[in-house]
Amino acid sequence: MALVGIVGWRGMVGSVLMERMQAENDFALFEPLFFSTSNAGGAAPAQAKNEKKLVDAQDLKALARCDIVVTAQGGDYTNEVFPKLRAAGWKGHWIDAASALRMKDDAVIILDPVNMPVIKNALASGNKNWIGGNCTVSCMLMGVGALFKAGLVEWMSTMTYQAASGGGAQHMREMLVQYGALNAEVRSLLDNPASAILEIDRKVLARQQAMTGAEVEHVGVPLGGSLVPWIDKDMGNGQSREEWKGMAETNKILGRGPGFDTAAVPVDGVCVRVGSMRCHSQALHFKLTRDVPVADIEAMIAADNPWAKVVPNEREATLRQLTPVAVTGTMDIPVGRIRKLAMGPQHLAAFTIGDQLLWGAAEPLRRMLRLLLEA
Ligand code: NAP
Repeated sequence: MALVGIVGWRGMVGSVLMERMQAENDFALFEPLFFSTSNAGGAAPAQAKNEKKLVDAQDLKALARCDIVVTAQGGDYTNEVFPKLRAAGWKGHWIDAASALRMKDDAVIILDPVNMPVIKNALASGNKNWIGGNCTVSCMLMGVGALFKAGLVEWMSTMTYQAASGGGAQHMREMLVQYGALNAEVRSLLDNPASAILEIDRKVLARQQAMTGAEVEHVGVPLGGSLVPWIDKDMGNGQSREEWKGMAETNKILGRGPGFDTAAVPVDGVCVRVGSMRCHSQALHFKLTRDVPVADIEAMIAADNPWAKVVPNEREATLRQLTPVAVTGTMDIPVGRIRKLAMGPQHLAAFTIGDQLLWGAAEPLRRMLRLLLEA
């Protein structure tokens, strides 16, 4: 039975990965070896079979015992450990949620409902590095990949509304503590229906502006009741790294652009962190290569994969089906608000939401693990 090392299993992505692997009975297929960067020697989670203790995640010898390593630990960990492990001659498969290796020539971005041919080709030619895509890109392609596959996208602009969970467990906790502090600040006024809303508003703003360094340790500024229009590093050209990933990763997943001898499809926009808990939402604007009726577009999206779901462009259906609250914890990728824009018949709008911890992170990893174990 294959030995599979699991690193980063208690983080945000790792917890969802563990839940999904448990639900799909994946653990029956391999012997797990659980690693930790903070608690080596502690008890491994309940899914452990023979290897009951947590192993130091920096222990190269222990990692090298594994046929496959699955990591959701983060980019710093990958950058530190992966090159040393390969340099020591390890030939196993590395499956990773972090972005560190995504754009390397010897790494494939995995999203099998969208790019199974790319994955199969790479498997056949001996590829060993399988990297989960950026969460926003993966969720977008699960929803509207059909339009790219049909060659209908001349360019796409995406304006994102990304949840706190995109930053990990600590960001979610920090935001909820902030919401609690804001509520506590005005609780007595809220209890009194006659209180003035402007007084409530002033007190909330004053509390947000007075948040201490400890209260905004992870995001840097208050996210509760606010938003942050910058995600990830500064590329130095006015673009955030999250925005850069939109075009780079979309094209790499689809097997287009540099290295594939086809022109890349331009993808760009503004990425914004908002005060929602989980799920990344995005407003899309497509310039189509030709005028295609909305009904045909809807039919293509609905037929593309079992998880993309068209939400009728009506108020009630949108309110019920197209919100993070409706989508969180589900595998569905609803696509709604599909309509032609005033700019002309080749300009199409859509709004899509995905639980970025499922299709945007954990699910492609566990499906790749299955592909390898069942190959
Ligand atoms: P995370 O929640 O911060 O977890 C990463 C690690 O932090 C854990 O494995 C754990 O390592 C440690 N940790 C420290 N304090 C913790 C606490 N209180 N609770 C849980 N874990 C704690 O990060 P993440 O969001 O899962 O992201 C992991 C990687 O996946 C990153 O590279 C990220 O860019 C990528 N990714 C994230 C998302 C997303 O939506 N969050 C989506 C796609 C990809 P030890 O157990 O070893 O201490």
